[in-house]
Amino acid sequence: FRARLVVDSSDDSHVLLMNMHHIISDGWSQGVFERELIQLYEAYRQGQEPQLPSLPIQYADYAKWQREWLQGEALENQLGYWKEQLADLPQLVTLPTDRPRPLKQTYRGSSEGFELTAELTASLKALSRDQNVTLFMTLMSAFSLLLGRYSGQDDVAVGTPIANRQRSEVEGLIGFFMNNLVLRSDVSGKQTFVELLQKNREITLDAYNHQDVPFEQLVEELNPERNTSHSPLFQVMFGLHDLPDAEILSSSQSLQVTPWHDEHNEGVSRYDVMLSLVERQGIIQGSLEFNTDLFDRATIETFLKHYANLLKALVSDPYKPLHDLEFLTDSERQQQLIDWNQFEKTSTDILVHQVFEQYAESQPDSVAVISDGEELTYSELNHQANVLAHRLIEQGAGPDKIAALCVSRSIDMLVALLGILKSGSAYVPLDPKHPQNRIRYMLEDSKAFALVTHEDSGLAQEFLDTLSQEMSVTLLEDLSAEDCSAENTLQPAKLNPANLAYMIYTSGSTGQPKGVMVTHGNVMSYLEHAVDYVSEDISGSIVSLSLAFDATVCPIYVPLCLGKSIELMPNDNADLLEVLVDCISDDSENYLFKLTPAHLQALLNSDFIETNELSSHTVVIGGEQLNHSTLSRWQSLLPNSTFINEYGPTEATVGCSIFTVGPNDCLPESVLNVPIGHNLPNSQLYVLDASLKVQPLGVEGELYIGGLGVTRGYLNRPSLTAERFIPDPYSAMPGSRMYRTGDTVRRLRDGNLEFIGRADDQVKIRGYRIELDEIQNQLLKHPAIDEAAVVVYEQNPQNKQLAAYVVHNDLAEESFVEQLRAYCHSHLAEYMVPSAFIMMDSLPLTTNGKLDRKALPEVTLSGSTEDEKELGVIGDLLKGLWCNILDIDAVGSSDNFFELGGHSLLATLLVS
Ligand code: AMP
Ligand code: MG
Repeated sequence: FRARLVVDSSDDSHVLLMNMHHIISDGWSQGVFERELIQLYEAYRQGQEPQLPSLPIQYADYAKWQREWLQGEALENQLGYWKEQLADLPQLVTLPTDRPRPLKQTYRGSSEGFELTAELTASLKALSRDQNVTLFMTLMSAFSLLLGRYSGQDDVAVGTPIANRQRSEVEGLIGFFMNNLVLRSDVSGKQTFVELLQKNREITLDAYNHQDVPFEQLVEELNPERNTSHSPLFQVMFGLHDLPDAEILSSSQSLQVTPWHDEHNEGVSRYDVMLSLVERQGIIQGSLEFNTDLFDRATIETFLKHYANLLKALVSDPYKPLHDLEFLTDSERQQQLIDWNQFEKTSTDILVHQVFEQYAESQPDSVAVISDGEELTYSELNHQANVLAHRLIEQGAGPDKIAALCVSRSIDMLVALLGILKSGSAYVPLDPKHPQNRIRYMLEDSKAFALVTHEDSGLAQEFLDTLSQEMSVTLLEDLSAEDCSAENTLQPAKLNPANLAYMIYTSGSTGQPKGVMVTHGNVMSYLEHAVDYVSEDISGSIVSLSLAFDATVCPIYVPLCLGKSIELMPNDNADLLEVLVDCISDDSENYLFKLTPAHLQALLNSDFIETNELSSHTVVIGGEQLNHSTLSRWQSLLPNSTFINEYGPTEATVGCSIFTVGPNDCLPESVLNVPIGHNLPNSQLYVLDASLKVQPLGVEGELYIGGLGVTRGYLNRPSLTAERFIPDPYSAMPGSRMYRTGDTVRRLRDGNLEFIGRADDQVKIRGYRIELDEIQNQLLKHPAIDEAAVVVYEQNPQNKQLAAYVVHNDLAEESFVEQLRAYCHSHLAEYMVPSAFIMMDSLPLTTNGKLDRKALPEVTLSGSTEDEKELGVIGDLLKGLWCNILDIDAVGSSDNFFELGGHSLLATLLVS
């Protein structure tokens, strides 16, 4: 214990500094100390002998008593209560922080004042009286509810300090008595506040009855997973204190004394946040101490404002279900729904192939498409597409009829796309690399009346022969202008924006892919704004992705809407990166690229790419979360290019939000993930909670998309469509729907959206969208498999892979993995085939019977270390390259690249 008096001689004011270790004192002790100090001071000042009452016992007596009492049955009874009460407590209250949580808790902090009106204080006291609870219980329950709303958790624990002086003999002692209690609330939304209050009354009283176990001992006993980044059991503290220091100090007759520490937080925060309240003269006031490494002051100010709003809302109707209690103000809602969601209705009725036809008329000789040294002008492309269109019309093409298209990246691809649109039909792109089973399923599911393909597609002749018995199969090579007219078709007159333009299959959790039906209106509403944000200065675009994803909509149709050219990258993966690099290095053109983050990363790893100050390309990146580090490396390579992070699910047509990083833009270093930005004006983005209420800024919620890009839904899946495409309560247009994305996002204070992750088992691997359940269900269809689970694991941070855990009844164990791999290759797209198969006797389950992912054995991939053959210099060089690219320690000449975690992009790197 130390004390020091600092005297300001100019005005005779004094500051008494006192420093006591917590081991000898606590909040209560401080009150005792201050009261006695004043009494002594007053007595000495008046020249009297001070009259302090003598103490019945000393701290040591208490300590001895506590030791003797708190053991055996008494201790067991107390611990037993807490073990049950805190079983399966979530590790953390996941408050949305402004910055990522440091690996080690820092205790740097500050504080922010808080005060309620006298009126609200009175109402809260009245409510507490009516419900037969204490004011503490009411304030604590509301605080827990707010924490639940902010964290998205229903199960919330707060700590609260308790004086722990249960006998009158210890009341006058200075010493460490206080204890921390954990109050755990179920704040799920269906109950009313009154119900929550009654439950919390019991919880609080029970906690008081078991307050004797010191918190440290409790932590030791419960042994929760310890983490240096936060405190155990609770990270948020709440206290309502009865006797503020200020009141004791002001009891002095002869001195004016005020506490010093209130106005000057020492820059310390013991927890993530700690709200300490007192009631003084009918007003609840206090302050919130917060960790400044986690939170900005502005965030805390809003949080406290929301606490007051929530208290107001629940006082006015304590019988409302919790999820209907609103704490956002109208202006906060207006900001998110309107100010940051500017909406513009598209006016055009012209369809995309008609825009193309206009250019074919006005600039017939401009180059439209370039592929592998060949090119077609706008008029040539138009003619060829017309021939196909007329052929398809003979075969029965028309609005909302579906023609399948299975061509590799080539000029034929453009002919086929435009030909189908011009016939009035919609296209469903099929990836020729997919297994026949999958292609057949899509043809059957979509009831395609025709298949357009070419000799280079790679589809087996036998397969085509069987298909031609069920539908018209057109080989593009067989078409000639002599058979059909090359004039524009009249079909578009029958089409309107509500008719289908294309259908794209995405992975389906039931085990089969599902077709998303996209209309011409959807496509035009996207293109109208894409053409704007891409800038008219592009000279052409580069197409390097598969037509089977809507990522190609941007680089194919944007140039066609601007009269520019499209350059198709080679199909062969081995050449892809090199040709891409050539285009990127080409500063005589302003290209539009659409790439995935995985491509950007692969290009960086290839080491081919060089800084080019002159290139001013537009690089649209989408499909997966873009890291800040990847972006900044690209920015330094191409300082004059523009990077656009585009977000959007197929169901809402390609893209609905963008974040643009121009040549001189620079993101703050603390940003780890590039935001997905703000809405394109044709779409409306809402961050909502489970009951479709707008989430506060910074708080995670699910992203819902409304507007003109919302597609018709899933083909042949009415119930899934009804579940994901729901009425839009925030739209002024009657009958509007919004799409429920399953993406967790939050709105940052500058209005940009940040992508957080998925709320379900959908994953992205190298930009490919995969439902883990689809793979799992496919495995379960195998007769020898009893149980299966598929998970994503990271071989290294840039290489996400799939692993399948299977329980099987196959007797010929040895070749089973190979058999399984072949089975997967014949039913699933290549990117869905797990790289690791792990045989299990049974799958680990959690206590409530779900798959316990954490308990699955880790995947370790390794090649063989033994090689009979001498491989020579080149062989050794290759081995080194494999190990390096696959991030493994050893490899043998009989190992399989794909079984060691290789995939097409890595193969490309290897070839490079
Ligand atoms: P897809 O339908 O294949 O375009 O996949 C859509 C999903 O990919 C979204 O729901 C997101 O989970 C993810 N996604 C797409 N674009 C982005 C992006 N720019 N940043 C983060 N995730 C993205
Ligand atoms: Mg997309």
